[in-house]
Amino acid sequence: MTRVFDDDLDVGFATRAIHAGQRPEPLAGAIMTPVYLTSTYVQEGLGQNKGYEYARGKNPTREALERNVAALERGRHGFAFSSGMGCLDSIMKLFRSGDHVVCGENVYGGSFRLFDRLLQNFGLRFSYVDTRDPQRIADAMTPATRMVFVETPTNPLMRITDLRASAEIAHRANALLLVDNTFASPFFQQPFDFGADIVYHSTTKYLNGHSDMVGGIAVLNDDDLATRLQFILNSAGAVPGPFDAWLALRGTKTLHLRMPRHDENGRAIAAWLAERLGEERVIYPGLPSHPQHELAKAQMSGFGGMISVELDTKERAAEVLGRCRVFSLAESLGGVESLISHPASMTHASVPFEHRQQLGISEGLIRLSCGVEDVGDLLSDLEHAFHVV
Ligand SMILES: *Cc1c(COP(=O)(O)O)cnc(C)c1O
Repeated sequence: MTRVFDDDLDVGFATRAIHAGQRPEPLAGAIMTPVYLTSTYVQEGLGQNKGYEYARGKNPTREALERNVAALERGRHGFAFSSGMGCLDSIMKLFRSGDHVVCGENVYGGSFRLFDRLLQNFGLRFSYVDTRDPQRIADAMTPATRMVFVETPTNPLMRITDLRASAEIAHRANALLLVDNTFASPFFQQPFDFGADIVYHSTTKYLNGHSDMVGGIAVLNDDDLATRLQFILNSAGAVPGPFDAWLALRGTKTLHLRMPRHDENGRAIAAWLAERLGEERVIYPGLPSHPQHELAKAQMSGFGGMISVELDTKERAAEVLGRCRVFSLAESLGGVESLISHPASMTHASVPFEHRQQLGISEGLIRLSCGVEDVGDLLSDLEHAFHVV
């Protein structure tokens, strides 16, 4: 008898991270899920197959990743996509022309670009509000509102949205709550506990954790919604290749080892920066000076490695970025290596200048993704970069 891990077993996060969704491979018993490099599957006879017909619809490597991340979020269904944006685009196809979405004003720049520059042309309507204040969400709801979309903490301003209050407002209007959980990862934040309907990730970031693929994943509980999203996934076809799915699956096995170290380094670096630059310049939800520190503590079990720092000018930002040797100047986040970036000209360049100003993404803002290196080396690097001994 082949022993298989039962995904429904009530086990801890680490055990789920390592085992959920995975079965010994049937031919030889390989413990690691193979990369199923195939576009089609041989059928035994007309109408007889093993549940696999064509790889756009289903691929066993992708399914292992989907079941694994669903288990980490404690959701029932997972759907993996070729990128975070491909995932969000497919989620939006649950709606139709005339439907309205209330969206956080400080969501990932690419999410805003997808809504504002593309989906709006197809008749979807969006209101962008400061979701730090749940009343603003409530005020923006209309009879046509089908979804509330929040990201918490936000990129790059680390603003926190109250998930429970957002879910209540959405549900009162029969709308769904979609949460972008990329920054916290399921290790630090479990949006289903607060009433979210769909949780989505750019797997490119913490879930993969090694900066070697691009991908997205959506997790949800409702069976009917899952059937509709599977139909969209197969019809629109924004699916990841099996190797990318495998890389993401390899990444999730160590999520519970990496996240505490990102958090430890993040806290130490935020405290160090606050002491030298002044706490008003350092934006990190784990600092008691963060205006929403209490809310962050209430709905997250850790704060991770993302820190933003407010400098006076773009020139000062460029100087600091240019002097780093361990932190690399690059977009993206959530990998084992530390990165530093300038949101105004990099991740958020697609947000118009006035809109950026209004949001608070100044020309002097820099963003750190603290990796899992030795914290002493990261601090020495920043000491050199800021020359603030
Ligand atoms: C990177 C990112 C995305 C987009 O994901 P891609 O995989 O780059 O398409 C969405 N949301 C957040 C918070 C991100 O950081």
